[in-house]
Amino acid sequence: MAEVLVYVDHVDGAVRKPTLELLTLARRIGEPVAVALGNGAAGTAAALAEHGAVKVLTHEAAEYADYLVVPKVDALQAAYEAVSPAAVLVPSSAEGKEIAARLALRIGSGIITDAVDLEAGDEGPVATQSVFAASFTTKTRVIKGTPVITVKPNSAAVEAAPAAGAVEALAVAFSEKATGTKVTARTPRESTGRPELTEAAIVVSGGRGVNGAENFPIIEALADSLGAAVGASRAAVDAGWYPHTNQVGQTGKSVSPQLYIANGISGAIQHRAGMQTSKTIVAVNKDAEAPIFDLVDYGVVGDLFDVVPQLTEEINAR
Ligand code: FAD
Repeated sequence: MAEVLVYVDHVDGAVRKPTLELLTLARRIGEPVAVALGNGAAGTAAALAEHGAVKVLTHEAAEYADYLVVPKVDALQAAYEAVSPAAVLVPSSAEGKEIAARLALRIGSGIITDAVDLEAGDEGPVATQSVFAASFTTKTRVIKGTPVITVKPNSAAVEAAPAAGAVEALAVAFSEKATGTKVTARTPRESTGRPELTEAAIVVSGGRGVNGAENFPIIEALADSLGAAVGASRAAVDAGWYPHTNQVGQTGKSVSPQLYIANGISGAIQHRAGMQTSKTIVAVNKDAEAPIFDLVDYGVVGDLFDVVPQLTEEINAR
């Protein structure tokens, strides 16, 4: 069976959920070979093996944190050359997409970004994408070189599938070119204690209907009752009610959670572009004609200031 390279996103050895999802998808098209780099890389092996990695290629080196993505691309390319895989899968984070794009360019391959599903095809893996501001859902295949595919978080369920997960050290060194730029400081954003927006299983968003920064705690309370991330429409962000890092849409973040709850959001095409691939969509809007109701699974026509606190109370009571 063909091998499929899976780039591992981890924090000091703790594998992040989008990578475990990638392993589920990788098993549909071949045998996953994981590539883990940086501090704690070797510590990822047990979790990766538990989820189907037949092999884990590691380069344990704290210096990856000192540089931008080029050393990671060098290492992934070394793994690619060692394995000759049928495909390379990378999580669709900002960094993941840069790594994937640089690798595809170096190896002369086509790239598919932001896939939301992946299946085996007669002529190679077929990815599902939502494109042109979510106007179309396409099935896409790379026709040149080894497919390099980035996959959005929440595109597949995490499944246990124990495999050998034999650890092998990757023989790579930091090149002079790769180390030409040095990270001099990192400032972690203040944590809200909520999940990362793009990785959250549930996202609760607020729009212009929230009518002021002082009312966003209503949205946050519902999010907290569900263990969800908080999103916002551009109207709410432009008004200064919520940070731009939480904006969902064409010029914000693209999310694909199991559940998306839109409160006081009309459903403009640019907002839909960032959330249309959510598995279940719920909207609360006082205008029964709001376009968001065209794409919801469940819609509540009502004032969010009545509906949302009641919903929060009901969930907290369970
Ligand atoms: P509105 O469209 O004003 O809708 C507010 C809704 O709230 C209405 O439907 C109203 O009925 C409802 N409402 C009001 N009060 C209540 C209440 N008390 N209870 C219940 N419902 C209530 N937008 C994004 O979101 N993300 C993007 O990334 C983005 N990128 C863009 C890029 C470009 C190039 C352009 C041109 C636009 C972009 N936009 C984006 C803006 C987009 O076109 C819309 O203007 C924006 O999404 C509207 O936000 P909204 O739905 O919160 O506000």
